[in-house]
Amino acid sequence: MLDSLQRLGKQLDFFDNIIKNPNVREGEERYLVRVVFDLDEKKVSADPRKYQQELAKEYLWIGNTFRAAREKVARLTTDNLKYLMESTDSGKADKTQWRFVEENLISNTLTLIYDFRQKGLSTSKMEELGEILSELERTFIKGSGTVVFENFDEHLKRQAVLYTVCVRKSGELIELAKHEGYRDFLRLVIGMPGDVREGTCHVCGTTTQVLLDPAFPSGSLLKVWTKDKKGFISGPSESDEAILSTFAICVKCRDEILSAWGYVKQKLNLPIANASFNAYLIPAAQEPLTKDILDKLSSQVKDAFDAVVSYDGLLKFEKALKDYSEKMLKESWYKLTVVFGKPESAHFRLLSFVQDVPVTDLHKLREQIRGVSNKACSFFEESQKSWYLGFSEIYRLLPLRKGGRGSELDWQPLVELFSSMLSFSPYPRSRLIKYAVLLARVYRFQLFDIYSNIPKPKARESDRELCRALLKFNYFFKLLEDMGVVGRAESEVREGIPIIEWESDERLRKIGEWFREMGYSGLQQGLFLLGYLVGEVGKAQYDKGDEKKSILNKIDFNGMKAEKVITLSNQILKSLRDYRLLTASNERIYYHAMKLLNKHLDELRVNPVENAFYLLSGYAFSTYIRLSGGGSRD
Ligand SMILES: [Zn+2]
Repeated sequence: MLDSLQRLGKQLDFFDNIIKNPNVREGEERYLVRVVFDLDEKKVSADPRKYQQELAKEYLWIGNTFRAAREKVARLTTDNLKYLMESTDSGKADKTQWRFVEENLISNTLTLIYDFRQKGLSTSKMEELGEILSELERTFIKGSGTVVFENFDEHLKRQAVLYTVCVRKSGELIELAKHEGYRDFLRLVIGMPGDVREGTCHVCGTTTQVLLDPAFPSGSLLKVWTKDKKGFISGPSESDEAILSTFAICVKCRDEILSAWGYVKQKLNLPIANASFNAYLIPAAQEPLTKDILDKLSSQVKDAFDAVVSYDGLLKFEKALKDYSEKMLKESWYKLTVVFGKPESAHFRLLSFVQDVPVTDLHKLREQIRGVSNKACSFFEESQKSWYLGFSEIYRLLPLRKGGRGSELDWQPLVELFSSMLSFSPYPRSRLIKYAVLLARVYRFQLFDIYSNIPKPKARESDRELCRALLKFNYFFKLLEDMGVVGRAESEVREGIPIIEWESDERLRKIGEWFREMGYSGLQQGLFLLGYLVGEVGKAQYDKGDEKKSILNKIDFNGMKAEKVITLSNQILKSLRDYRLLTASNERIYYHAMKLLNKHLDELRVNPVENAFYLLSGYAFSTYIRLSGGGSRD
């Protein structure tokens, strides 16, 4: 992950992500004031430029301080003149008298350059800048009383948004913020070397001056990463040596990684599950790209990922498809690392990450999701959006418990599942089945307060939503089985899908179609058919005023052992008789259910939770088709 970030960072302009823009509205007349120290004529004057957004970058305006407000301001471009000098005006006529403040930004900059020199971090360009600044300091600041600041009138004072330090020497104007030495200087200031010493950089491997503490900004992934590294330090010691031997980074690597992370946060960051957390996409670029191509590819990869997240994302992706260059992507941006995390005010919470996802896998995943969602929507003749199975929808299928701290959900199970999907790697079937049955419990027993990611339906809709959720879960299973992420049921006998021929009846034909679509095994079909009859009985009970459908109490939502299934089958037969539901088709369903259950009696003993899932799926099917008008209500 770090090497991917670093490769990206090498392609970025370090300053791109940290430039600030003064708050200037379109069309407003504002100025950047060049404060010109004329070394030839020994005078100071204002030379304004009309402010445009490009100027912030041109003069490297990055804010007065980087980490803490109490930090001494050492900048050559600032938004406030008070860091350089103050007016001595006491309301009298002469308003051009100014004096330098004690801790002025020029002297502060010089002090830091001196520090860097001491640490062996200074560059020749920085030394050059330092020389100009010392001459300036000697001439104007040291021991001076007041100076006249020419050309800086009340009007300009009001309209100025930025100030930048310049000198005029031998008739030539030098804008110091554009001096190469100033770029070197800022990189170091932001790099905050703190304490450096000779060591080996753990990122690039060179022996050079390394930082004892990389001091990545709080609220970034990098902070988490280095903390983890420190966690590996052997022994109780947190001494410099221990840290140094575990994680040391040189200023250059730190800069590159920092700018890459800035870029990812800006351009390759997607909210998931209604912005409860984000996915950050870190590209593994093969070769240096121009900024334009990099930006273009970033937006394409982001779109491709978004299509995996939500149906709206899919639509957007398809709209953008004509500009899409898969070839370019494959050649220059083969893989990416996906980081799931949650930015919080003071820190970043890393949830999980998946390394080396080939971009082509994103496309494969999207096609699988689209395929299965299409099947679902044509089966139930409903909109594609309501059956889409992107990450944001899957979030509504996996009940997540509130963590120990009370309000926060435990995201881990969800991001683990996403990680498996992104890497097409195995996810335990039994765990998924447990979630499916838990989902049914959330609806049946109204546990929405505990599992608050499952939206609470209106009371009247509750049964319908339970059914829809379970059917959707069937498609989700199908998706993961097709992807090879989840294996088929352990109990399944490899005998192919038993085909029941019952084309005569529309209702039964639909069941047959469902079995083919889902690829149910014999046992699963038997359980489903029994569950289907639970739905029939439940409907009759509902019509007679039993809104809770007491037949559902015969299903243990935690799991159905074989004996319980047998008892249920007897109960169903009795209820079918009691409610006069033994029609020809129900009789045939019952017959097939019993035949299949008896045939697979041994398998029925294997996994009670799976039994419950397929029973409930049958119930859901019968009820949902009826409620959504797929069959008449009577
Ligand atoms: Zn390095």
